[in-house]
Amino acid sequence: MGKVTGFLEIERHDRKYAAVAERVKHFQEFVVPLTEKETRDQAARCMNCGIPYCHGTGSVQPGTPGCPVNNQIPDFNDLVYQGNWQEAARNLHSTNNFPEFTGRICPAPCEASCTLNIDDNPVTIKTIECAIIDRAWENGWVKPEIAPARTGKKVAVVGSGPAGLACAQQLARAGHDVHLFEKYAKAGGLLRYGIPDFKMEKVVIDRSVTQMEAEGVTFHYGAHVGGSAPDALDPRKLLGEYDAIALTGGAEAPRDLLIPGRDLDGIHFAMDFLPQQNRRVGNEPLGTEREILAGGKHVVVIGGGDTGSDCIGTSFRQGALSVTQLEIMPAPPDHENKGLTWPNWPLKMRTSSSQAEGAKREYAVLTQSFSGTEGKVAKLHGVAVDEKFKPIAGSEFELEAQLVLLAMGFVHPVHEGLLKTLGVELDPRGNVRANTSEYQTSLAKVFSAGDMRRGQSLVVWAIREGRLCARSIDIFLMGSTSLPR
Ligand SMILES: Cc1cc2nc3c(=O)[nH]c(=O)nc-3n(C[C@H](O)[C@H](O)[C@H](O)COP(=O)(O)OP(=O)(O)OC[C@H]3O[C@@H](n4cnc5c(N)ncnc54)[C@H](O)[C@@H]3O)c2cc1C
Ligand code: SF4
Repeated sequence: MGKVTGFLEIERHDRKYAAVAERVKHFQEFVVPLTEKETRDQAARCMNCGIPYCHGTGSVQPGTPGCPVNNQIPDFNDLVYQGNWQEAARNLHSTNNFPEFTGRICPAPCEASCTLNIDDNPVTIKTIECAIIDRAWENGWVKPEIAPARTGKKVAVVGSGPAGLACAQQLARAGHDVHLFEKYAKAGGLLRYGIPDFKMEKVVIDRSVTQMEAEGVTFHYGAHVGGSAPDALDPRKLLGEYDAIALTGGAEAPRDLLIPGRDLDGIHFAMDFLPQQNRRVGNEPLGTEREILAGGKHVVVIGGGDTGSDCIGTSFRQGALSVTQLEIMPAPPDHENKGLTWPNWPLKMRTSSSQAEGAKREYAVLTQSFSGTEGKVAKLHGVAVDEKFKPIAGSEFELEAQLVLLAMGFVHPVHEGLLKTLGVELDPRGNVRANTSEYQTSLAKVFSAGDMRRGQSLVVWAIREGRLCARSIDIFLMGSTSLPR
């Protein structure tokens, strides 16, 4: 259990960020890792609680405390404290295919539910997770796990985000012949094209893809299943050729803001802006796409979540004159009431590293229209709102805006093409209907996981669903499974 008196003797001490003035000059990661001794000291703080809420209850209900993939946190904390890094990596991989993703970009619900968070000093679980997996890669401990026997069954996975990657990797390890179809040029989904390199460098995905290829997964890039281009793949053909299909195409339909002036040039969805920068960093050609750049502009980001933050950090790195972020919800409290919230994820004021780079934030405001000259946006017109989101008379304001980025979330998966052609049933929110025990859609051979099934969510939930979906497909094909949860 870490060190018996560790939590009494050692203060919480977490990774720091490089200074803002330095980090905004580039697109690389800027988190400064702890030393080995510091990491082991932090792991020593773990109390091995009788009820460790950190590693989760295994429930799929929203708001369930702890780690969605049920990482065995007290166990790997102890292994790190003992200096047994290789066994810690094995332990971590027993529940999570890609701790290098979650160790970088997970909001860490485990830390919110750590017992030591009752007085705001949780174990630095995410930092420890990241240290374990980074050390494992550095030391060559992460190796392809090649199935001892092939089953002769073929599975198609459509979409190579974290859900598709986790699903494909588990199925290949069960001995199936797995083909992963991705419409873009590279694998990773939003990890590759949404989340900027300064949060996660893409080499982290590339090396997992190499590992998966060695495990037998065949990646098909530029393969838009159900797309409108002449060379697009027909999903009905996949149904005929494969024994099972997993739909892991994400929730890609963005929420729009249909107000006067929306059609002015310079107003774009976040996911038209962010992928371009990730492609530039990755030396992937933009083709005929018109460039959207923030340099020399006053930028307004509408939407206060992760996507909005990524737009802010990217804009600053491109040389924006100013970035203002607007959020319709009221500002959350600075500190949660632990008695009411712990061990659940609390609603409270958080400042992302991108917001800390100099963004101005406005809460409880509604954007009413845009105006401009010569067809280009120049101003955003907004108003403050009350607790019922009703405009407050006299509170109207204007903001200079030469680039407006809409980051208000995603409504559901794209229905045209893949889903309509297959004819899978949707749930009332427009996501693919499938439960969390079988992950099976209304079509017997077709399964679904990740944002395409649950709606926009988190990388850690996509990994969990991909793993559980693979188990369910294995049972469907073989009658039983030895794949872990
Ligand atoms: C900008 C941004 C920042 C985010 N930041 C964070 C964060 O910091 N932490 C966090 O936990 N979560 C974050 N999220 C959420 C997280 O990225 C998603 O929840 C997660 O990636 C969902 O994984 P997925 O595999 O279900 O789908 P996706 O990652 O969306 O992957 C779906 C893949 O399917 C492909 N595809 C879709 N349709 C087809 C088709 N018909 N044929 C072939 N391929 C297809 C797509 O091209 C894509 O590659 C962020 C989201 C965004 C947009
Ligand atoms: S809740 Fe915190 S202290 Fe308790 S076992 Fe989990 S990490 Fe350790």
